[in-house]
Amino acid sequence: MFGFSLTKILFTLAVVVIVWQGYKWLGRMQTRRDAIAREGAPGTGRGGRAAAAAPSPAEVEDMVECTVCGAFVPARGAVSCGRGECPYPG
Ligand SMILES: [Zn+2]
Repeated sequence: MFGFSLTKILFTLAVVVIVWQGYKWLGRMQTRRDAIAREGAPGTGRGGRAAAAAPSPAEVEDMVECTVCGAFVPARGAVSCGRGECPYPG
């Protein structure tokens, strides 16, 4: 019942090697990304992965909570949610 052929064995070995190399490649990419993230943001350090994932300060927008509807809207350019008592224009 063991229908092993050289072709099947070689194919299986090839698949194993490809997957193994793929994982090694992914690991290298991850390591390199972490290194770039650490070195690319001097001064912000110490956060490592978390700091790298955070957007730059220029992209961060302060959000304020509407006292009427409770929705968070951008502090700059806030627009009304549509309710009458909403403190924002719109
Ligand atoms: Zn509102």
